[in-house]
Amino acid sequence: MPTAFLSLGCNLGNCHAYLEQAIGLLQAHPMIRVGRISSVYRTEAVGEIDQPDFLNMSAEVVTDLSPKVLLDVCHRVEEELGGADRGVPHGPRTIDLDILLYDQIEMADAELTIPHPRMLERAFMMVPLVEIAPGQELPGGRTVAEAAAALTDSHKIEKLDQLN
Ligand code: ADP
Ligand code: MG
Repeated sequence: MPTAFLSLGCNLGNCHAYLEQAIGLLQAHPMIRVGRISSVYRTEAVGEIDQPDFLNMSAEVVTDLSPKVLLDVCHRVEEELGGADRGVPHGPRTIDLDILLYDQIEMADAELTIPHPRMLERAFMMVPLVEIAPGQELPGGRTVAEAAAALTDSHKIEKLDQLN
């Protein structure tokens, strides 16, 4: 069955609870099995907007859902947890779910680009991912660990605990 890796992020409200609920909602989906999940990381927000630190983590999902339908599920989880209510693009949010990888698929259209187009330059996406899937191959043949070793992102990132 296909394996995808998701990036989860939150910087508004009780983020531990939102991350836990997001994993719970994914797991409750009849077509999704959640595999490995990373520790939670506290990360400095990237970009122009002055906003609180994020909590980020990564999760492996095993599913027969297509990439598009998996993205729909991610958006529904965001809506359910209030994360779709976004004042500012890339601003604070209760929960954001992104698809990093989906098997060896490479695709890019208006709704969905896989691998996630900014993952290779973002420590908050790569560091949790390398914790759970260092040997995972990216399209092109490099492993996640090799790509993570090439990161030049200097934003602060601190490993916290696992979710319960
Ligand atoms: P961001 O995650 O960049 O802060 P959003 O979560 O609001 O911003 O996402 C904006 C749009 O990005 C989504 O509506 C989605 O269609 C698109 N998108 C493109 N590629 C991906 C991907 N790999 N994972 C998640 N969303 C993606
Ligand atoms: Mg997103």
